[in-house]
Parts: sequence; C-alpha cells; structure tokens
Amino acid sequence: MPYIQPFDPWKSSLCTCPPKYSLNPYTGCGHRCLYCYATSFIKNFYRPRPKKNFLKIVERELKKLPENSLISLSNSSDPYQPLESTYKYTRKFLELLVEKNYRILIITKSDLILRDLDLLKNLRCAVSITITSKTLTSKLEPGAPSYERRINAIKSLYKSNIPVSVRLDPVIPGLNEKEILEILDEVAPFVKHITASTYKAKPDSLKRLTDAFPEKRVFWEELYLKGGKKLGNAIYLKDEIRYELINPLYKKAKEYGISFATCREALKVFESPQKCDGSFLIS
Ligand code: SF4
Repeated sequence: MPYIQPFDPWKSSLCTCPPKYSLNPYTGCGHRCLYCYATSFIKNFYRPRPKKNFLKIVERELKKLPENSLISLSNSSDPYQPLESTYKYTRKFLELLVEKNYRILIITKSDLILRDLDLLKNLRCAVSITITSKTLTSKLEPGAPSYERRINAIKSLYKSNIPVSVRLDPVIPGLNEKEILEILDEVAPFVKHITASTYKAKPDSLKRLTDAFPEKRVFWEELYLKGGKKLGNAIYLKDEIRYELINPLYKKAKEYGISFATCREALKVFESPQKCDGSFLIS
C-alpha cells in the first residue's frame, strides 16, 4: 500500500473535496479524541507509531506524483501529534517539498506546527486548525493542545501570512453547539475559511462519549440510535437536527464575510463543492 494515496478512492457521494492525495506520517494518533472516526478502522489507534521507512518511501513516491498535485496531511491521524516532536517525519517530508511544485494542505490540532514556520513560508500551503470546544478540550481530546494554544497557532500563522482556515467540528448536540459559535467569533479576524460538521456516530466513538458524559447517554442514544439514520458507514442525526446545528455557524460566517463549507454533511444548502477543505486558499 503506497503512503501517498488518492484521497477517498471510493468516491463517496458524501465527499465534496477536490481531488487530492492523502498522507499520514504516523499510524494512529496520540491526541486520543473521543469522537475520532479513525479508531473504527485502524487497529490500536491510540497507540500511535511512525510509518516504517517513511522518508525513503515517500521520497520515491513523490517522484511519480504529477506537478501541482494537492497533498493533504493528514486525514486519518494528526501530522503534529506528540510523536512528531521525536520523529519529525512531518518536518522531514516538508523539507522534501521545498522548491517543488506541489500544493500542501495541513490539518492539525497542534501548535507544534509553529516549529515549521520557516518551511511553510517557502511552500505552496494552507493550514486548517481544528477546534471543537473551549472548555472541554482536556476531556474530549485528552492528548491534544489546549484551546489557547490552538488560538495562538492561528494568530501566529496569520501573522506569518500563511493562509489559515478553521475546522469547527464535530458539533455534538447538547455539548458544544453554543460555545462553537463563540469560537467562531474569536477566530473570525484571522481566518479566511470555516469548515463545520456534525458528529457522526460510530459504535466505538459513541461509547467513548457516553462513558465520558454519562448524563448525556439517554439523549444521544435517542438522537442517534433511535432517531438517526445510517449514511455511508456512520449514523447521522436527522436532517432537521443537522440543519439546526450548522445553520447558526453558516449565518455567522456569512456575517463576517468568511467562506463557509461543511464536511460530509449531506445538506445541499450548505455545500460548497471543491471549497470544503480550504485548499482553495493555496496560491
Ligand atoms: S486529532 Fe484527529 S486523528 Fe487524532 S485522535 Fe483526534 S480526531 Fe483522531
């Protein structure tokens, strides 16, 4: 299996991303987000490990990649998770790209990305920082940097003229829908694009969430297990509920004049095909 692979090779009708490649320098992730979907298909996900012979293999694969290709880091892990401090695989990969004509989209929750500002300034890149909550970070994402550190990363990227967008997701009913609007207010001066999406349940992530928030168990089980619907390989909330959760964010982003898109939300009214992941910010 190549390390640099076409993103969504199954061409899911739920995905509105532009064509791109995906690369995960690590298997698994130490941020340990309770809602993470990748735990359902990657073994021992919370015991992350570096990919074997990573640099040698990606260097070889890069030679076969067409110029101007869009490479997304990462879609099933975080390229700046704690292991990156030790192995520096993400940094070493970015070093391979200097003076090459590829477009790079980085999606992370970590301010460790600021270590690599020197490289990012010399690449065709955009960065997307994910924020889910202001107050529940240590419970929801126990291995990830705090809210304040992510805000600081956004401001520093902005000051360095690196195009930055924010992913406000997942919106989890009864948990973060109010504070996620406050987060939008806070990031609005620094970002050019917002991507939002609701929580799509999988049996393992729903169990982690209900174990961590037992007072929400009945509420979430009603919404997802009784009232939800299967779409793709996850359980979605009813259309009306997803609309109610996303619409305030959509309206607020519009007020600020920031472009807005959703991710695999299956609500046509919010779709912005080819713009959803923020890669359009790359010049
Ligand atoms: S940062 Fe992303 S990949 Fe890592 S645990 Fe959280 S949701 Fe999963």
